[in-house]
Amino acid sequence: MLKSKRTPILAPPRAEKEYTVRIFSEQCDGCKLCVEFCPKDVLEIDLESFNSRVLHYAKVIKPDECVGCEQCERICPTASIFILEKDIS
Ligand code: SF4
Ligand code: SF4
Repeated sequence: MLKSKRTPILAPPRAEKEYTVRIFSEQCDGCKLCVEFCPKDVLEIDLESFNSRVLHYAKVIKPDECVGCEQCERICPTASIFILEKDIS
């Protein structure tokens, strides 16, 4: 099979969008709704840490997996989690 020595001139296209998940741990009461509703298993309850109300809170375990569906943001009863679109331009 022939192999070309030419290399691409342009970098491969990047994913169209990337997202950042922000969690306000002080507001979070660890209800786990976001964990259950996230289709990509991005979130988990941190069972080793407590906020000032002595409650466990949600943390991001797979930041690169977030697809920005905002299910977590919509379901959160304490408005503790937000999705931000990264500027990748
Ligand atoms: S936006 Fe969707 S994929 Fe991202 S953390 Fe929230 S529920 Fe999971
Ligand atoms: S849904 Fe909101 S309050 Fe419940 S664990 Fe997730 S971030 Fe915390």
